[in-house]
Amino acid sequence: MGEAAGGLAGDPAGEWSPGPSTRLAGVIGHPIRHSRSPAILNAAFRATGLDWAYLAFDVPEGGAAGALAAMRSLDVGGLSVTMPHKQAVAAAVDVCTDAARALDAVNCVVPDGQRLVGHNTDGDGFLRSLAADAAFDPAGRRCLVWGAGGAARAIVAALDRVGAAEVVVVNRTADRAEVAVALAGAAGRLGTPADVADADLVVNATSIGMGAEPATGPTAGPVPPGAEAVHDGQVVVDIVYQPVRTPLLARAEAVGATPVDGVGMLVHQAAVAFELWTGHPAPVAVMAAAARAGLAD
Ligand code: NAP
Repeated sequence: MGEAAGGLAGDPAGEWSPGPSTRLAGVIGHPIRHSRSPAILNAAFRATGLDWAYLAFDVPEGGAAGALAAMRSLDVGGLSVTMPHKQAVAAAVDVCTDAARALDAVNCVVPDGQRLVGHNTDGDGFLRSLAADAAFDPAGRRCLVWGAGGAARAIVAALDRVGAAEVVVVNRTADRAEVAVALAGAAGRLGTPADVADADLVVNATSIGMGAEPATGPTAGPVPPGAEAVHDGQVVVDIVYQPVRTPLLARAEAVGATPVDGVGMLVHQAAVAFELWTGHPAPVAVMAAAARAGLAD
């Protein structure tokens, strides 16, 4: 497993450097320059004393199968996958988990003997963040998700998997919304912005708010349609994490709802990957600090 002498003692003096037994993990994507994953995962390896290193690889569209071949021949210990490769990797691994197969998207590749196994950790990362950051259990609750892209579909499927009473999808493009709704089975329903007020949990999984100025007040900046109906007693998640404090979260806070930012999902999906690759519990607090250090508030 490439563990440092002394097991999980960590590397408080910053003495670690890569050697002949270091295990390599990394992320493929394009563009990849702004990825927070190297900071998050390397912080986790150093905190746990594991002799692993994590790098970012800029792999243009069409390069996923070649990257997986390299993963095999170089005995890479774990691979994260981001845009635009999630679907191509789902086709190129030897086997997918049920979640990754249902979504036709892999964001984490785990070697298992001679096989490469494709996982999708976004749904579990989202659920762990909900539990850790808001103590919210979706079982039996009414949930509304804005969006029907890759992240939204993972969240919709995860909410159904843990027994949400209802998973309402609101999306700009209706036929994409239908695809997302189908992932929630009998709990899924196509919704409108008028459904926002009735939900216990509302989740922005669109890119609305991404790149906005960090919100200083409840009225500034772009929010998803119907966000004016957010009220106290609701849990409001914005998976957009650039900025961390989005206009939607500022609004949620102003009306007394419980805001949950997107750094939680980012960190917890990386924590799931860390655990799958190394077999060790992830140092989530260290990973969160590393993630937040590089993000605009
Ligand atoms: P995606 O597959 O491209 O989907 C984008 C979604 O946003 C679609 O539902 C799209 O609607 C909607 N959308 C985009 N612009 C819109 C606009 N102007 N008005 C209304 N709807 C709009 O992207 P994704 O991978 O799902 O990511 C979505 C967001 O989540 C991004 O900001 C990404 O950074 C963030 N994210 C966060 C995490 C995390 O760990 N926190 C993980 C994954 C993604 P249409 O279907 O109508 O085009």
